[in-house]
Amino acid sequence: MKRMNILAAVVLGAWCVTGMGAQEKPGAKTVRAVRFGRLWDGKGKLWTNAIVIVEGDRIRNVTTDAAAIPTGAETIDLSKYTGLPGLIDVHTHMTIYTDETPGEPMLKQLTNNPPAVEVFLARKGALRTLEAGVTTVRDLGADQYMDIAMRDLINRGEMIGPRMFVVGYGLYITNTPYKPGINPPAGGIADGVPEVLRAVRQQIAAGADLIKMYASTGTDDDVTGFQTYNFEEIKAAVDAAHKFGKKIAIHSYGPDGARDAVRAGTDSLEHATDMDDATIQEMVKRGTFYVPTIDHNRYYLDNWQKIGYANGFQEKTKAFIERNLETARKAHKAGVKFAMGSDAIYTMFGQNTRELGWFVKAGMTPEQALRTATTNAAELLGKEKELGAVAPGYFADLVAVEGDPLADIDVKIYKVKWVMKGGAVVADKTKDRGH
Ligand SMILES: [Zn+2]
Repeated sequence: MKRMNILAAVVLGAWCVTGMGAQEKPGAKTVRAVRFGRLWDGKGKLWTNAIVIVEGDRIRNVTTDAAAIPTGAETIDLSKYTGLPGLIDVHTHMTIYTDETPGEPMLKQLTNNPPAVEVFLARKGALRTLEAGVTTVRDLGADQYMDIAMRDLINRGEMIGPRMFVVGYGLYITNTPYKPGINPPAGGIADGVPEVLRAVRQQIAAGADLIKMYASTGTDDDVTGFQTYNFEEIKAAVDAAHKFGKKIAIHSYGPDGARDAVRAGTDSLEHATDMDDATIQEMVKRGTFYVPTIDHNRYYLDNWQKIGYANGFQEKTKAFIERNLETARKAHKAGVKFAMGSDAIYTMFGQNTRELGWFVKAGMTPEQALRTATTNAAELLGKEKELGAVAPGYFADLVAVEGDPLADIDVKIYKVKWVMKGGAVVADKTKDRGH
């Protein structure tokens, strides 16, 4: 009995990381009626006193007519709150999660952990992501196919987390010195067109949903943006991905890799500061999505000691944030489509939607900012008929926030009270008192 009790406590502890309650599993035919005081449906309509009828993991109907509630349906009353579609974060690294283990820098924790431990720990970041109102992520790079394992565990209901679309290894150029002996290349390393083709095909064979390529330097506390892959290599990756019906996301910190990624036909461009007007115009023309990930450098600045970065990078990182924001401002003004990506890593999970605050700073209305994490992000995933809106046939991904996110985007960022993913309530703070 004692052992059982300990086990129960461990399980409960894991499921109540931030005290938001345990995961539930409604049956495939469970019918529920969720009432919202107001509902922004992502389809251009702002409802008053909306009732969302949910059956199993999908939305059956949206109405204001209480007579439309099927008999026997359970009612969830959120009429004090505003409803939104579950949000989509199109740039995460879910498996690069770290706990705040005392006294050990996050960089060191990562290199010390075996992959199975990493995936198990990552469930906490996954929960925090859900609690921020993010029910779907596009995860852009992991080692040893941990992302594929995590996606599948979540889809099987073995782990609680957002729906994941994953890339396996991102492609990057050789970045290690010669070592005597036989050294198989690390996953994702590819130089020249034939190797790029092989690496793309390997990720697809492993079960990747899309492809990621690093077309410039720049990561962590390194904010350089030197182009790495040339146009021919980038074009080969784009075409190979598209040939298999997969999309591609290309990383570039600087303008050169960005220019060639856009010209080669990438579906989304990640980070990209200092883009020239011609590249921005080309993005408008082609409908390329821009994912600027401005907030992740803010996170690095706030946490550099805990992560383990050496002092001295702050100046250049602050300057990079300014240029990143300025590029976003220019791109938004020109009419480029944006999608919200946090680049969440380490302990940043739960802060995924802070990026929306930067988008408003860059000139968007709160509604335009919400679109980057709903309808736009769904389009980038190729899932615009299932995700990013509250409408019949869509996944029952719903978020309740306290206040009016269309007047103040901080409401979406900081006032999430309740979250449903695929018909299951995954976070509920509506009964919390005294905060
Ligand atoms: Zn990233």
